[in-house]
Amino acid sequence: MRCAGDIFAYLEACAPLAWAESWDSAGFLVGDLAHSYDRCVVAIDLTPALLSYENTLFIVHHPPIFKKGLEHVLAGSLIYEMIKRGNGVLAMHTNFDRAFIPYQVAEALGFQPCGRILDGLSLGLTPGIGYGIWGECEAQSSELVSQAVSKLFGLSALSVYGDPKRLVSRIAFAAGSVGSMIPQDGCDLFIGGEIGYHQALAASHRNMTVFGLGHTESECFFIDTLVSWLKAYGVQADAYRVKPHVRSFYVTV
Ligand SMILES: [Zn+2]
Repeated sequence: MRCAGDIFAYLEACAPLAWAESWDSAGFLVGDLAHSYDRCVVAIDLTPALLSYENTLFIVHHPPIFKKGLEHVLAGSLIYEMIKRGNGVLAMHTNFDRAFIPYQVAEALGFQPCGRILDGLSLGLTPGIGYGIWGECEAQSSELVSQAVSKLFGLSALSVYGDPKRLVSRIAFAAGSVGSMIPQDGCDLFIGGEIGYHQALAASHRNMTVFGLGHTESECFFIDTLVSWLKAYGVQADAYRVKPHVRSFYVTV
């Protein structure tokens, strides 16, 4: 397999680290850039279940440790055990979120993409960077959209805030922890991963319907996208997925 440094440089060209948030620790976290690992595994999170691997380059969405914390890698910690097994860890986090445009969501939900979402601001077009996607479609009930969302993300349930019968035509989607991205106005339906109860409730009071899919559930396209990016570079990567959580369905009007 190609060395970790080549893979890192390739992925950095796909999703520049300069696009990562200042607080983020995206990048090559531990390992040897000159080394050719036996295999690549793509996952959302580094978990103890992955300790069965040795000499493996993990490409994860969430940084398992912040860079300044690497000065204090303690025996017994997950990252310490990864290093002991000769594994490398590379995180593609907010740089990926900004580089990746989830057209699959727009296509599946039948809306025409118009732009990206700026954190903490109202909806607006951005020149290539920003989060998620927003667009417009023919008016349909949010209940109908929820069925398409469940199918697309493989969910058995999702949280709905607002009247499911209400018609929506301007839809926004962003993956991950995105409560701060709910716009003040300008969209009828906001679909996100992890959203605080009070944030969603406040949005529903502004006549906006909000769907909460779950944090990792909303990020399912990370794995497929990274695997396809790596394949295009001639690197075969394995996908490590966890099943979506099963939650109860509730509606807050
Ligand atoms: Zn996340």
